[in-house]
Amino acid sequence: MEKYDLAVVGAGPAGSMAAYRAAKLGLKVLILEEHGQAGSPPHCAGKLSVKAFQEFSLPSQCILNEVRGALFHSPGNLEIEVSKSNPESYIIDRELFDRRLAEEAVNAGAEAVFKCKVKQVDFRPSGGLTVKGSSLEVKVPVLIIAEGGTRKLSRSLGFQRLPVLKGIQAEMEDVSLEREDFVEVFFGWKFSPGFFGWLIPTGEGKARIGLCLREDMAEMSPRAYLEKMLREYPPLKGKVAKARMERVYGGLIPVEGPVKRMWHPKGVMVVGDAAGHAKSTTGGGVLFGLKAGWLAGEAASRLAETGRVEEALRGYQQACLKAFGGELSFTKRARRFLNRLSDGDLDQFFRFLSAHRSLLEVAERRGDTAYQSKVWKPMLKASARLVLEKPSTLKFAGKMLWKILQSMV
Ligand SMILES: Cc1cc2nc3c(=O)[nH]c(=O)nc-3n(C[C@H](O)[C@H](O)[C@H](O)COP(=O)(O)OP(=O)(O)OC[C@H]3O[C@@H](n4cnc5c(N)ncnc54)[C@H](O)[C@@H]3O)c2cc1C
Repeated sequence: MEKYDLAVVGAGPAGSMAAYRAAKLGLKVLILEEHGQAGSPPHCAGKLSVKAFQEFSLPSQCILNEVRGALFHSPGNLEIEVSKSNPESYIIDRELFDRRLAEEAVNAGAEAVFKCKVKQVDFRPSGGLTVKGSSLEVKVPVLIIAEGGTRKLSRSLGFQRLPVLKGIQAEMEDVSLEREDFVEVFFGWKFSPGFFGWLIPTGEGKARIGLCLREDMAEMSPRAYLEKMLREYPPLKGKVAKARMERVYGGLIPVEGPVKRMWHPKGVMVVGDAAGHAKSTTGGGVLFGLKAGWLAGEAASRLAETGRVEEALRGYQQACLKAFGGELSFTKRARRFLNRLSDGDLDQFFRFLSAHRSLLEVAERRGDTAYQSKVWKPMLKASARLVLEKPSTLKFAGKMLWKILQSMV
């Protein structure tokens, strides 16, 4: 049997990046992917910050559209526009993106076996692990689990449980769109409890329309909520009146991560959604998944060099926390704050922001979809200035501040 230095479960962005980095550093890497190819079936809206393309060498042929802002809709049909002077995100073909990343890993020297679902991992008494897949079994000194939101394998090894978002999305054609360089965000507890809905234009009158919901806050299936949103959401129903639904798919996003420990002392690292690396505010997980994959690949290489398992894997966790731990912690609190707002609070919030453009201008200047915590301090300062200039705003600002403080605990 072939000998490998590292096995990676899952050929999503996190797994392929981990395999790529480790192979580049000289390890013999095996990727095990349960589906016939990377990226299929899809489970993503494909909105990826321009920063991801600046930080990594990513396949630009996957870019379908560029967006430079968002239109936010409140439950009571109020609208706020936040726009940037330059494109801030790309809308990508996620299936092609994942395929290209997996190819890059293979070009770097990794081997990939598709249609191989990993069902069990055993720790060997003599050290290392036995990875049992549906079509093969392999013994390796270290394993990276990049299995995405299902988290079955990582949970079976004792990694922490996390709350989960259920997402669903329809690809639609002939959508009546006034502008294709803006995404739209739909708030309202009746339509997407614990989260929001979206419309993401992919060009030529096509759009991805979907929503997520917190499974512990929902009363119906994601499909039922999606149909309700398409039928009843005021700013959306007109846009889709003549649209055709091409396909519908969904997925799970673990939130409120990361897991407390992203590694197991017997030689396992969890990366990407398997480790709770998606932002709790937006569910976006590709960028931090790529970062975690890169860092896990490096840790596997360090382990191969030194043989010191705990030191290498602990180093992986520390590097992740340094790179994006603050962002995950900020987005967790921001999501808790948002989930404390009723539909009435949200309408009031929209009215307040519309009446005080100075706050929206801060969001436009300082907001960053990839690193959302950057906007927090400038926003707080601008709010304090506003209260000093206009004492009548104190009551609403105080109410919001109280909810923010409650979200901190
Ligand atoms: C509806 C929806 C919309 C989203 N929109 C966005 C967005 O716009 N932008 C963004 O950044 N993020 C978005 N996300 C989140 C994003 O999709 C994930 O954060 C990202 O895919 C995580 O990458 P990953 O590599 O960790 O996992 P995944 O991409 O889920 O990849 C995991 C891989 O592991 C394989 N696998 C699983 N179990 C096994 C097993 N036992 N054996 C072998 N293979 C296995 C799977 O087949 C899959 O290929 C969205 C998610 C959903 C559900």
